[in-house]
Amino acid sequence: MKITVDAPAKINLTLDIIGKRNDGYHLVKMLMQSVDLCDSVTVWDTGDNDVSLSCDQEGVPDNQSNIAYKAAAAFFAHTGLVNPGIGIKIKKRIPIAAGLAGGSADGAAVLVALNHLMGTELTLDELCDIGETIGADLPFCLVGGTMVASGIGTILTPAPDLPDCYLVIAKPPIQVSTKEAYSLCDDRERWQPPYTDDAVEAVCDGSLPLIGRTFYNEFEELLQLKEVERIKQIMKDCGALGASMSGSGPSVFGLFSEKGEAEDCADVLKEQYQEVFVCRPMDRGCTVED
Ligand code: ATP
Repeated sequence: MKITVDAPAKINLTLDIIGKRNDGYHLVKMLMQSVDLCDSVTVWDTGDNDVSLSCDQEGVPDNQSNIAYKAAAAFFAHTGLVNPGIGIKIKKRIPIAAGLAGGSADGAAVLVALNHLMGTELTLDELCDIGETIGADLPFCLVGGTMVASGIGTILTPAPDLPDCYLVIAKPPIQVSTKEAYSLCDDRERWQPPYTDDAVEAVCDGSLPLIGRTFYNEFEELLQLKEVERIKQIMKDCGALGASMSGSGPSVFGLFSEKGEAEDCADVLKEQYQEVFVCRPMDRGCTVED
């Protein structure tokens, strides 16, 4: 049997860094949103007691360091089931190392696929418990939709769906190390109050212009990436109701109420950047394809 799972990317409508734990993990408060820019992850049983993995994109590891591979190993360790041998094929659409949680989405997709393939009927909460052992973004990639993430990013509280809208996502060709980005706030003695609360209020209110005005990402101030500022300005000039960086970057997204405006903005950006997408919000995380 073959199971194919849609693995949506996420964007951070907000990202506040609000403290640091003694073990070095940062405490965050973020309003997260799934978008319909999805990798496609197919899992099947091979009968050879191993995990074999392939991906159609260069730069993605095809060994134990792939998050999808780690997810498979964690699934069998958690359930105690003997691995019958599985194949994993990843069709990549989410840009790599972009702040869009592409790797975590693939890992979450493998957990969902194995739960079906092996007939284990684990609950979403149990899958999140396994996912959390691999990475802080895994639980959100499993649950998806619009969620406030707190703690180290694994405590999820549902927020209302976004009103009907379009999101333009552009990834400039620059590299950001998430670890280095976090280290930039390590000397801080006072942590700012979270902007996320205002964004959640705006989402509850349901006004797109208001929502656009509440986007915030603390990494933008810490990293000060010129390319990010440039893309945000282009998006605003094209009529975006708000624009912000996602995660630790470098992807930038802009919010539009009209499809035509979003597509025109994407056309302008495509003249300068290769990775540009027009997306819509999604109300779910990794889901088995029909
Ligand atoms: P986040 O938003 O969670 O910080 P990201 O979007 O910035 O994630 P990813 O695309 O998940 O970053 O990949 C970061 C690195 O992880 C890549 O450079 C790659 O070497 C490694 N990696 C491992 N597994 C995967 C995968 N399945 N897809 C993409 N990258 C992967």
